[in-house]
Parts: sequence; structure tokens; C-alpha cells
Amino acid sequence: MLASAYAVMSATSPLKPHTIQRRDPGPHDLLIDILYCGVCHSDIHQVRDQWGGSIYPMVPGHEIVGRVAKIGSQVTGWDIGDTVGVGYFIDSCRVCAACQEGEEQYCEEGMNTTFNGHERDGKTPTYGGYSTRITVNEGYVLRIPEGLPLERVAPLMCAGITTYSPLRRFGVNSSHDVAVVGLGGLGHMGVKIAKAMGGRVTVLSHSSGKRNDALALGADEFIDTSEKDAFKVNACRFDFILDTISARHDYNDYLNLLRLDGTMTLVGIPDPIPLSALSLVIKRRKLTGSLIGGIREGQEMLDFCAEHGVVSDVEVIPMEMINEAYERVLKSDVHYRFVIDMQSLKQPCSK
Ligand code: NAP
Ligand code: ZN
Ligand code: ZN
Repeated sequence: MLASAYAVMSATSPLKPHTIQRRDPGPHDLLIDILYCGVCHSDIHQVRDQWGGSIYPMVPGHEIVGRVAKIGSQVTGWDIGDTVGVGYFIDSCRVCAACQEGEEQYCEEGMNTTFNGHERDGKTPTYGGYSTRITVNEGYVLRIPEGLPLERVAPLMCAGITTYSPLRRFGVNSSHDVAVVGLGGLGHMGVKIAKAMGGRVTVLSHSSGKRNDALALGADEFIDTSEKDAFKVNACRFDFILDTISARHDYNDYLNLLRLDGTMTLVGIPDPIPLSALSLVIKRRKLTGSLIGGIREGQEMLDFCAEHGVVSDVEVIPMEMINEAYERVLKSDVHYRFVIDMQSLKQPCSK
């Protein structure tokens, strides 16, 4: 069946209307009418081929919330009308150790990404959430808890899980001084989730104008990294740093803010930069990375957010504003996630 979408045809072209084919639901599939899709910086990196290997035409989008419109004959546990979420991947091998442990994002064969990738057959391109509907296997869909505003839930599907997972893995609690670096889509979710876990949270931002927002989002403190001496004055004071910056920056400056045995986890994926061994050796510091989260942990995150009333701060936009929205994200001018209202895109006339 057909779906309306927005796609790019090359790394330098803007997003434009496009029609794509979605498969009819197989026995274990759900057909989902997409209601909202968040705009993650990873969409922009891939649209512009900043990570290499991009596949065109590309329909981005991996922060999907929608309603089940049709179910396959053998689907159990899902009904027509259920509100569901789809994140960064739509399949994986299911048998490797990572998949068996519910860490499908680290699948040994490589996860099947929601867009800019292929289905399990290795041939059929995947198209993401900037579209009116999507067909997904029932095992790769999350249940959206009731009572939450859906446009504010969509960003949890990537920004939420990507920040929840490393904060949970570190075990953030009230004894920890946590720094969230970069106050964008991921960063603002990191602040809310780290606070909900009990941490004392400081935002490090290169945008001095975000101070009031950071405090309103729940941060205890704000550090403007463009201020002279910001790195010197705050040396050796954090237990955990979550680095969400999307652009090239000096990791050594931030590592130096960790106390003895502190950990910095990278979730932002900018161009590479050199790392000094001394930044780690001096205080036995740890530098780690983290990739989204698995299906089990994604559900745990949604339930945690529902329990703590954590949702994203969003600017809802119609589909046709997407190119403008990208430009604003690139200027760090998003408060704090753009979310596309998919009802602004009409279903194609023919089936
Ligand atoms: P975003 O909304 O654009 O936020 C990024 C923030 O980084 C900006 O708001 C800005 O915060 C800061 N920043 C931007 N340019 C900077 C510069 N030149 N120097 C210092 N700080 C700068 O992006 P996002 O959607 O949160 O994504 C952030 C990164 O995470 C991207 O690289 C994305 O691809 C990656 N990501 C990774 C995963 C994963 O699984 N690991 C998942 C999703 C996204 P301030 O204005 O506060 O300084
Ligand atoms: Zn993302
Ligand atoms: Zn696997």
C-alpha cells in the first residue's frame, strides 16, 4: 500500500513530498497510522551523509508515535486502536547474545534501522517516520502508557531512551553530581530523567541564553561553557557526565570536569577529535559511549517517564516546515524538540 512521506534524494537536496510503498501486514506485523514523529539530530546527520553510506531516496524519522490500524493474523498482545511507539530500529537477528539479552541495538548482525537501512532481507530499504504510516513487526513496537500527551511522548522514542539508558546503567541517584552537556533534544531529556532519578543536575551549554530554560527544566545549576575559566573553575566535580553535543568539541576539556573514578558517556556523534590519555589517567576516569536502548529497556523508560510525569518540551510543526526546522536545529535553536504533526500530510488517494 502507498504512504505519503517527505524524502531527500541526495545529501544536498531539501526534504520534499514523496510517495512510498509500505508492505501489507504479514502474520506478525502491525500497520501503524503515524500521528507524530520527532526530529532528531541523527536524522540531519544522515540526510546530509555526515556518517557516510547514506541510502537515497531517504525518508528520515525514528521518534514515531501512532495508532495500530491493522494487525496480522497471528499477532498477540496488540489490538487495533492501540497507541504505540517505534524508535530507531524495526528488527534485528533475534538470536545473538545481544538480542537474547534484549539489547537489540547491539545485535551482532547489526540492527535493522527504521530508516536509511534495510529490512532483514538485506535488500528492501527502510523508510522512517516522516510518513503517514509504517508496517512493523509486533516485537519491535512499544506500548505508550495512557494519559500522556502524544506529541510530547514521540521524542522519548529516541531522545528519551538514549539518555535514560546510560543514566540507568550508571545508577544515577541522589548521591551523584551529574552534568548534562548540550541542551538540545537529548540534553533536555537527560536533565529531566537524571532529576527524576534523584541526581543533582548541572547543564553545560555553549548558549548563554538557555540558562533560564535549563533551570525551568529542572536543572540545579547552569554553566555557560563559553565563559572564560568555566572549565578551570569546575574541574574535578562531577561523578557522571552525559555528553550530547552534536558538533566537534574537545572531549579533554569535559573529561577534566570529572572527579576521581568519574565516568563520561558520549551519546552525541560528532566528527572525531583527538583524545589525550592524560585526561583519563590523571583521575582514573572512564570514557564510554551508549547507543539508544533495547526494546525491554525502552518500555521500562516509557513506564518510568509515565510514573514521573516526564515528557519532552516540543514545538509541533506541520510537515512542510521541516527544512526550516533543520536549519534551526543546526543553530542550536530548538526548544527542545521539533515534532511533526503527521496529520499535516494527507494519505495518498489511491490505496
Ligand atoms: P540537538 O537537539 O541539535 O542538540 C545538540 C546540542 O549540542 C545543541 O542544542 C547545543 O547545545 C550543543 N551544540 C551544538 N553545536 C555545538 C558546538 N559547536 N559546540 C558546543 N555545543 C554544541 O541534537 P540531538 O537530537 O539532541 O542529538 C545530539 C547528538 O546525539 C547528535 O550527534 C545525534 O546524532 C546524537 N544521537 C545519538 C544517539 C545515540 O544512540 N548515541 C541517539 C540520538 C542522537 P547548547 O546550545 O546547550 O550548547
Ligand atoms: Zn535519534
Ligand atoms: Zn542479534
